[in-house]
Amino acid sequence: MQTRYVVVLGSLLSGLGKGIVSSSIAKILSLYGYNAMPLKFDGYLNYDCGTMNPFRHGEVFVLEDGGEVDMDFGTYERFMDRNMKSSFSLTGGKVMNDVISMERKGEFLGQDVQIIPQVTDYLIKRIESLSQKEHLDVLIIEVGGTVGDIENGYFVEAMRQLGTLRKTVFIDVTMVPELEAVGEQKTKPTQIGLRSLRQDGIQPDFMICRTTRALEDRARGKIALFANLPPEAVIDDHDVPSIYDMPELLMRQKLDKMLIGRLGLERRTINRKALNEWKRCLHPGGSKNKPVVSVAIVGKYIKLHDAYASVKESLSHAAMKNNVELKINWVESEYFEGKDAERHIGTLADSDCVLVPGGFGKRGIEGMIRAIQYARTSKKPYLGLCLGMQLMVVEYARNVCKLDDANSTEFGKTPHNVIDLLEGQRGLSEKGATMRLGAAQIKVMGGTLAHSIYGSGVISERHRHRYELNNKFRGVLERGGLVISATTTDGQLAEMVEWRGQFGIGIQAHPEFKSRPEHPAPLFEAFIRDAAAGGA
Ligand code: GLN
Repeated sequence: MQTRYVVVLGSLLSGLGKGIVSSSIAKILSLYGYNAMPLKFDGYLNYDCGTMNPFRHGEVFVLEDGGEVDMDFGTYERFMDRNMKSSFSLTGGKVMNDVISMERKGEFLGQDVQIIPQVTDYLIKRIESLSQKEHLDVLIIEVGGTVGDIENGYFVEAMRQLGTLRKTVFIDVTMVPELEAVGEQKTKPTQIGLRSLRQDGIQPDFMICRTTRALEDRARGKIALFANLPPEAVIDDHDVPSIYDMPELLMRQKLDKMLIGRLGLERRTINRKALNEWKRCLHPGGSKNKPVVSVAIVGKYIKLHDAYASVKESLSHAAMKNNVELKINWVESEYFEGKDAERHIGTLADSDCVLVPGGFGKRGIEGMIRAIQYARTSKKPYLGLCLGMQLMVVEYARNVCKLDDANSTEFGKTPHNVIDLLEGQRGLSEKGATMRLGAAQIKVMGGTLAHSIYGSGVISERHRHRYELNNKFRGVLERGGLVISATTTDGQLAEMVEWRGQFGIGIQAHPEFKSRPEHPAPLFEAFIRDAAAGGA
């Protein structure tokens, strides 16, 4: 069967949750048994997300294949419970790079290479070949940014052309603001957005309207009128308690049936069992007064929660699984440095457990080390992810093994660099996609906390790092009582460390990239379970 296309774009502003809409549509279609996958286009000229600052752009998500991609891919994987591929992440940088190398190879001999038709043709071919390779029934194409942006203009044009060639449905994600003083949902911004979409030659098939409360009939009718659509094609996307409730919200409005009809897909019935299983994971037990587990996330990009999107989601999956309510206390690690440090550190007592996530660069590092020391000495459950594991080693080396100046080479050269550059990283000067990236097997030692959690000798997690535990100090750390509970399969690199007699575990990888509502990451699940039980 030929692939059908759903193009999700925004005509008003970005940040309205196109990623959640695309993921929900992919989820719904897969519940009907269609092979559906999302693809994302981002207009920036970075080749991938690896060199971007999470503080500006949100988390850099890492795929099994090592691709460093937009955080929307995390949403896709969590909704779909399926691994995505980096070839499904298209950026302006990749597109231009490919077209220019085609030109150098002589693939356009004699032609002036222009945005239209060479770049747009290339895009359509690329999208079609990806769909064929994966035997997709439906490809959902999310267009990053907003229609009218200079950066994505050629991509929107390619989508318009795609619409003339193949069965394609266009979905415009818009916002219907409500001014508190007036108490009325305003449709004017959507009307203006529609104008810019039409200027680009695109007529939407569905409008998805972000609102704070349910879309009123009056607003729906007005948008339908301006969009040349029946009212039922104007979909209400009001705030829901959990993003995972979105597929249901859309299905309640029959978007599933209408979409399948518009795409001309063969009629199928929904897989009730899979749908119920999904709902059961999201709302286990359903008890009202659940115990609350509070987690302190101590990091340096705290002001932008999106910088830790997968960590946040993994904690929420673990909370669902343990049937507890999650409370995250976002803690800026720099608070634990300087003159008020000790007063601030005392506030960690309000949290049931402490987590230090991944990160790069020197700012806030000493504060994270102080927080880890607090967790260890006050026996709060601790989970360290990547940098959080490396700093767990530094803290232990300094305060237990008495190597006072212990540090990671990333933050300063000392005689005791217990964390040092990975062998393969020496001499590398390029920064793009040069870290240790993607899924790698990990050997877990028997009799350890890690083994009791993962319950298997060899596991796999995704990586993204340049530094590692320095084997020169393995002996001294182990003699001091630190447990090295997992290594690479050849035994060379430490992959997990643990404290004895209490829940304290650090992992060099990023288990947060593999956690899904239906399969919470085991480390997060155990961390929350232990915190709920009151720690060690
Ligand atoms: N900066 C550390 C490294 O490169 C940790 C990386 C991370 O937390 N992702 O090894």
